[in-house]
Amino acid sequence: MPKPICYSTKAFSAASATTPLTPAVIERRQPLADDVQIQILYCGVCHSDLHYARNEWHFTQYPAVPGHEIVGNVTAVGPGVTKFKVGDTVGVGCLVDSCRTCPNCRVGLEQYCDAGMSGGTYGGTEKHLGTPTLGGYSQSIVVTEDFVLRMPANLNLAAAAPLLCAGITTYSPLRHWKVGPGQKVGIVGLGGLGHMGVKFARAFGAHVVLFTTSPGKAADARKLGAHEVVVSTDAAQMAAHAGSFDFILDTVSADHDLNAYFNLLKREGNLVLVGAPEKPLPVASFALIFRRRSFSGSLIGGLPETQEMLDFCGTHNITSDIEMIRMDQINDAYERMLKSDVKYRFVIDMASLA
Ligand code: NAP
Ligand code: ZN
Ligand code: ZN
Repeated sequence: MPKPICYSTKAFSAASATTPLTPAVIERRQPLADDVQIQILYCGVCHSDLHYARNEWHFTQYPAVPGHEIVGNVTAVGPGVTKFKVGDTVGVGCLVDSCRTCPNCRVGLEQYCDAGMSGGTYGGTEKHLGTPTLGGYSQSIVVTEDFVLRMPANLNLAAAAPLLCAGITTYSPLRHWKVGPGQKVGIVGLGGLGHMGVKFARAFGAHVVLFTTSPGKAADARKLGAHEVVVSTDAAQMAAHAGSFDFILDTVSADHDLNAYFNLLKREGNLVLVGAPEKPLPVASFALIFRRRSFSGSLIGGLPETQEMLDFCGTHNITSDIEMIRMDQINDAYERMLKSDVKYRFVIDMASLA
């Protein structure tokens, strides 16, 4: 197969784990038959972008262009594209492709593709060019139409960008484990994922308790939908909830004590980890074997469920609470994210890259 023709587009990239992101020019393929070319208007800033830029997961390929909460307008389509046309408002999340033939892909769970994350929006492999995929901190991107999502017309586009990762990553486990009325649900960490977890758990009818290490976020957490707020560094507040939760969603990006949360689960309660800290987290056997508790994980969501989530957000008017930044503020934004100083998602105005 001949390599497709490429065009240049402006981006921000990291040259190594220890250097800041700087302006760059990158190559994208010209749209092939089933491709959609998108002018990126906004891109959310996920903590995964920081983990990846700094090689905290030990698979970063440099130069690295993070960004997988992408929204924009369609500027061109290949001749075989049937679902989108020039001018449509669309989104791209953490996946730009998958093998499409394994049992997971065939049921729309592309995030669990047997070929792994080779279809990742960044850090995967651009199968037409054989180069590492480059993410949304850029002016444009080309994606096969099956991995492009329709954005609900009624939502503020910048505030909807974080739905493409923070949204689906919290929606999917809450749906999979059927969180709903009559259940007591904990969300750990009020960052990008956590604040979406609070909104969804509340929208699904659960009694929502937010766990935070930042007492100053308590009032916001209630406004976002939490019925109760627990400062997790306060042992007495934690003890008051022992053995009482049906479900806990842990979104923490750094080292922390999981066992303190296992002890808050009821018999057969489940703690689902979506946070992806750099280092392994110790699990105390007794915290799980007493009361037959479960410990699970969950990765983003597949394409059908991501569209379902976007449509749900359109119907229920759910978006992220965002702070807009310019592209050249990204390195400061990362430092603030490490201090848990985000309310509650940074979104890059891509016009600032022009
Ligand atoms: P974020 O906005 O930085 O939020 C993380 C929150 O965790 C912080 O706001 C803070 O909340 C809490 N936290 C931070 N350091 C802590 C510590 N040392 N101890 C206890 N709590 C701490 O990050 P994010 O974008 O939501 O991402 C969260 C994690 O999920 C990251 O590891 C990311 O890579 C991962 N992720 C996973 C998936 C998936 O598919 N599973 C998808 C996207 C992201 P408080 O101030 O309220 O304590
Ligand atoms: Zn993400
Ligand atoms: Zn597959």
